[in-house]
Amino acid sequence: MSDEKNRAPATMLVHGGTQRSQFKETSEAIFMNSGYSYPSSQYAEDLFLNKINKPAHNYSRFANPTMDMFQDRMALLEGAEAARAFATGMSAVTNAVMSQVRAGDHIVAARALFGGCRYVVEDLMPRFGVSSTLVDGRDPANFERAMQPNTKVIFIETPTNPTLELVDIAAVAKIAKAHGAKLIVDNVFATALFQKPLQLGADLVTYSATKHIDGQGRALGGIVLGSKALIEGDVHTLLRQTGPSLSPFNAWVLLKGLETLPIRVKQMTESAAKVAEFLAGHPKIERISYPFHPSHPQYELAKRQMASGSTLVALEVKGGREAAFALSDSLAVILISNNLGDAKSLITHPGTTTHARFTEEVRLESGITPGLLRLSVGLEDADDLIRDLEYGLSQV
Ligand SMILES: *Cc1c(COP(=O)(O)O)cnc(C)c1O
Repeated sequence: MSDEKNRAPATMLVHGGTQRSQFKETSEAIFMNSGYSYPSSQYAEDLFLNKINKPAHNYSRFANPTMDMFQDRMALLEGAEAARAFATGMSAVTNAVMSQVRAGDHIVAARALFGGCRYVVEDLMPRFGVSSTLVDGRDPANFERAMQPNTKVIFIETPTNPTLELVDIAAVAKIAKAHGAKLIVDNVFATALFQKPLQLGADLVTYSATKHIDGQGRALGGIVLGSKALIEGDVHTLLRQTGPSLSPFNAWVLLKGLETLPIRVKQMTESAAKVAEFLAGHPKIERISYPFHPSHPQYELAKRQMASGSTLVALEVKGGREAAFALSDSLAVILISNNLGDAKSLITHPGTTTHARFTEEVRLESGITPGLLRLSVGLEDADDLIRDLEYGLSQV
């Protein structure tokens, strides 16, 4: 017998979570509705008392059949008990963090974070009485040292944006457990295919579905996954009552994105490894950062914690900002864009875009040097990408 949970990811991502209407459509339907009608007042009362189980719904702010299919398919892939979808990756992260803290609590986070995530822990939460400490995430001992009696959340991202440094998830999960704190992992850079934070001890995993899950530059979305208790409790309540909800249409786009996620990510990662190898040997490149390249300072951890590299490569061009701009501006195939995980290869200069709001000192602390570029490798032919970079570097 074929239990959905025992199938390989490729199969799960084509069939998992599908609910067919009375028409028995092959492809998943879009339920573009906000509300639901009930057969009786008694039914409505029972529904609002949570006495009626799925697939019953009462309002699309927090439950909709297309959203359900996306959540269930992602939960299968992640090996999570439950999931909730959000309008964006940032609303998913904000909900995951906020749902676990209240005034007087403390958060420990790794310093190297996606700009918006760093804003949430460093600026937003303190406004509501939740203090935070940012640490260098490369050494787990730094988390241990930052823990306080009121620490309720550790928040990390690994590999980190934009420098692709790693955090040892299992080691940090142990520290969180020992202190009664919840570990939240933003798993965008590794994807659910290559890294399983819940299996390594994390409590909640978040994704910007805008990235590899859509992967074709069409829709924003986010998702939080974890135990039934956490997801159906605090996470669901905050989503339900504050409403950063995913549109059913976007849920459908993301659901269809999941069908091709394994072949896209596999292809993009193979190309990224080739591009990393090319860049590592180029005389105009100071250094690269790629988790599965032997030059990565945490190569051993990468091999232990991740099933494969990443679709992203960080590179530092010799000659600082001017050289980095010259390279980017000379590319013909690779586009200048701050998105990532897309079918189209995208390059960005974090120092002047995603991390421009930080001071030079803060940027350098996070490894964001003037010559640093972040390259998201897409689905183009790897040799064309290498030729593009070769020409770009010749113009530096
Ligand atoms: C893009 C991204 C986010 C935010 O996602 P949006 O969908 O753009 O809101 C959060 N974390 C990481 C690591 C990301 O790359």
